[in-house]
Amino acid sequence: MKINVLTLFPDMFTPLQVSMLGRGLEDKKWELNLVNFRDFTSDVHHHVDDTPYGGGAGMVLQIMPIKKALDSLTNKGKVIITAPQGKTFNEKMAQDWSKEENLTFICGHYEGFDQRIYDLADEAVSIGDYVLTGGELPTMSMIDATVRLLPGILGNAASPVEESFSHGLLEYPQYTRPADFEGKKVPEVLTSGNHQKIAEWRHKEALRATYLYRPDMLVDRKLTDEEKRMLEEIKSEKEN
Ligand code: SAM
Repeated sequence: MKINVLTLFPDMFTPLQVSMLGRGLEDKKWELNLVNFRDFTSDVHHHVDDTPYGGGAGMVLQIMPIKKALDSLTNKGKVIITAPQGKTFNEKMAQDWSKEENLTFICGHYEGFDQRIYDLADEAVSIGDYVLTGGELPTMSMIDATVRLLPGILGNAASPVEESFSHGLLEYPQYTRPADFEGKKVPEVLTSGNHQKIAEWRHKEALRATYLYRPDMLVDRKLTDEEKRMLEEIKSEKEN
């Protein structure tokens, strides 16, 4: 997968070049093409922004440098523009995007984009109901969530399959050594070696975590008979 990023601050993107994603870059499992759209300006001062028509505070990004930067790309793929008013990013989008050959992100800054820039993108995407100074951190979050799903990026190929949100539930609790820390013991079933019982326990605990912390995720879920039974148990355990 090749990911293009149009940004005024390419130096911000070092977090994507370390750890597992960094190794993936070295191993050519994915490519990152950082494009500074200031390089596509034609005036001597390399302006990328101007004052808003109609007045008001701040500076607005102009369409021309961004259009030229986009036109310079050979394979844009899906073009995603970062915007607080966009659709909120989620794991399902990361899963869909991880199947693409190419993706292009556009990072805003200052007061945001000239409205006509949105027409250059396929999707406007937000990372939540808050405003950041630029689209770089949202883009890095979305790239991380997407690229880690590519084959060979994570050490253990199974790990994204069982994670929170990947199957509509939060993840079950995880434990490692020691089995007893100052009297806080690991649930016995996990050391029993009984794989079926462990799978059942994990399923129920994933359901419990979702019920307790993100009940909204259960609203549209078609619960299996087994899950209905587990949920009844969880509710009565909560009451007692
Ligand atoms: N004036 C804009 C508004 O009120 O919606 C905010 C502009 S913000 C300061 C500058 C840029 O940061 C935006 O154009 C966008 O690219 C990015 N940005 C800020 N918050 C974001 C968020 N929650 N999700 C995605 N991008 C965001």
